Amino acid sequence: MIMARKPIIAANWKMNKGPSETVEFLEAFGPGAEELAEFADIVVAPPLVSLPAAAELLAELLAESVVALAAQNFSEQDEGAFTGEVSTAMLNEVGVQYVIVGHSERRAIYREGDKLINSKIRKALAADLKPIFCIGETLEEREGGKLEEVLRTQVREGLASLTDEDMANVVVAYEPVWAIGTGVTATPEQAQEAHAFVRILVREIFGEAVAEQVRIQYGGSVKPGNSAELMAQPDIDGALVGGASLEAESFRELIMNGIPAPAA
Ligand code: PEP
Repeated sequence: MIMARKPIIAANWKMNKGPSETVEFLEAFGPGAEELAEFADIVVAPPLVSLPAAAELLAELLAESVVALAAQNFSEQDEGAFTGEVSTAMLNEVGVQYVIVGHSERRAIYREGDKLINSKIRKALAADLKPIFCIGETLEEREGGKLEEVLRTQVREGLASLTDEDMANVVVAYEPVWAIGTGVTATPEQAQEAHAFVRILVREIFGEAVAEQVRIQYGGSVKPGNSAELMAQPDIDGALVGGASLEAESFRELIMNGIPAPAA
């Protein structure tokens, strides 16, 4: 029997919101989050330095796991002389449950390649952290007819040597680079087409059962005004949100519009 996939909506704050702004956001967003969490898994990824304050406040405000925390970055190493890095054990200690891996900004600005991304995914899984594995093509690649080739390489290399059991804890985020932070969103049809292709790639590697259960988020200028039509697509299982997740009200509205209407 095929189980319905619960949507997962994650806020990627990038380099925005220190501890005090993080607390401010969560105080505004927390009330009402329990209701939303029935219909979607909700994840917030503040900067690393804000994670302890976020974890403390969430424990005070909400039942466990109503809003999960993600780290935007971490090391593939365990410990030692790696200036500026943070380990998975440190993330475990502050109560982080998810990690973002392979975001296009880390691929482009910090030159993180598929091999490193694969090491990070495996390191995260070994530490019981759930990777949100980002993939996506640039405009040049799309216009050059390379969409499928790019996604195939990113998926095959990023998920190399993972098991079916590992895949139960992996979320894929399809984020066309040309739609990130630009205000230009992929049309629901463009997004659906890419998501269906990513699911085929997962099926080729892991088989039907894993492909049917893996959640594939869309990311790229998702807003309260377009989350409904995007998330109504059959292969879109949530959203990874940058800009529109910075205000509590906009993030809440985006989630409310994107999830199936609560039964009356
Ligand atoms: C992102 O950074 O993952 C993202 C999708 O950003 P935005 O929503 O601002 O396009």
